[in-house]
Amino acid sequence: MSQNTVTRQTFDEIMVPNYAPSSFVPVRGSGSRVWDQEGKEYIDFAGGIAVNSLGHAHPALVEALHEQAQKLWHVSNGFTNEPILKLAKQLVDSTFAERVFFCNSGAEANEAALKLARKYARDHYGPEKHEIISFVNSFHGRTLFTVTAGGQPKYSEDFAPLPGGITHVNFNDLASVKAAISDKTCAVIVEPVQGEGGVLPADPGFLEGLRMLCDQHNALLIFDEVQTGVGRTGSLFAYMNHNVTPDILSMAKALGGGFPIGGILTTAKVAASLVPGTHGTTYGGNLLAGAVAGKVLEIVNTPEVLDGVKWRHQKFVEGLSDINQRYNIFSSIRGSGLLIGCVLNADYQGKAKAFTNAAEKENLMALIAGPNVVRFAPSLIIPEEDIAEGLARFERAVAHVVNA
Ligand SMILES: *Cc1c(COP(=O)(O)O)cnc(C)c1O
Repeated sequence: MSQNTVTRQTFDEIMVPNYAPSSFVPVRGSGSRVWDQEGKEYIDFAGGIAVNSLGHAHPALVEALHEQAQKLWHVSNGFTNEPILKLAKQLVDSTFAERVFFCNSGAEANEAALKLARKYARDHYGPEKHEIISFVNSFHGRTLFTVTAGGQPKYSEDFAPLPGGITHVNFNDLASVKAAISDKTCAVIVEPVQGEGGVLPADPGFLEGLRMLCDQHNALLIFDEVQTGVGRTGSLFAYMNHNVTPDILSMAKALGGGFPIGGILTTAKVAASLVPGTHGTTYGGNLLAGAVAGKVLEIVNTPEVLDGVKWRHQKFVEGLSDINQRYNIFSSIRGSGLLIGCVLNADYQGKAKAFTNAAEKENLMALIAGPNVVRFAPSLIIPEEDIAEGLARFERAVAHVVNA
């Protein structure tokens, strides 16, 4: 039992208390199943918060990591490297992007996107053009700049003074954007589906409307696809579901399939503002991340996986609707692809955590997205039988909450 010399209790004793992790400690995973220290098996509908795009220990990813680990791990950005250049090529070949930048996380990707937007506006129009428009309830990460760009004041207010020049308007409300945008706006940043804010998709026409308003005011349109990108919605990126292209796209989560990596996609014209010395990161674009993400992209960017997301979405929605018929807990089931939000009805307001806690007792890993939404973000290739078994476990959890 040597691996049991640390336990969940150890967390409370020696870790900074900024997280409240589940009661069990996962030690091993395979596909969409995870085992804890006691050998108990769980079905994973959480996917490491939309990260484990190909499940746990996918053999091709293990091989890519292992192969690279034997060759070269890290050289810094004083040198370029083959895995990261190959990954950049894959992204340029399959998206609007002409230029790519890599970092280590979603917050860092948005930090780079926002800094680039400020720098681009300053270079082309002068320092007055620095205002950023973002949305109420949006989430863009936890650095001071990104937490301020995010539209959930509870995450930023205790860290004041905050960076200035950021305005929040209502999501899916073009009129409020129109009222706020001006020639001083350098960028609008938006999630195509608000993830942490409750799995709320952009209405048809909303993103297209933002594109028009940005063009009218020479502002850059930034899509935060940290949660929606790399296959999550059934397209390689969520912008592909709309008749619109951003100027900058940030990505992370699913890109590394569990290996930390983030990045931005942009055009050659916009990228030109980040000349040598203007921005950087020590680890960003390292060889291990490049090798793993290259393999993730190769596997995800295929009709088999992307179309698979669509039928799996149907399976989830059908199963969850059946559960809702029997227990009447959700007012709606929304989202895109394998980013699914179940909105609790008036009887269960504020109770999302009760459902995921009950799910844990039924050996199911699930997520919340705010106090009123139960969220599922499983592997993009979760087997059909794991969906069925996970939904059966979820139904038992629901029964437990409803009958409590
Ligand atoms: C998770 C998330 C982030 C932050 O990513 P980190 O890797 O945690 O820094 C930013 N934006 C969106 C939309 C996210 O879902």
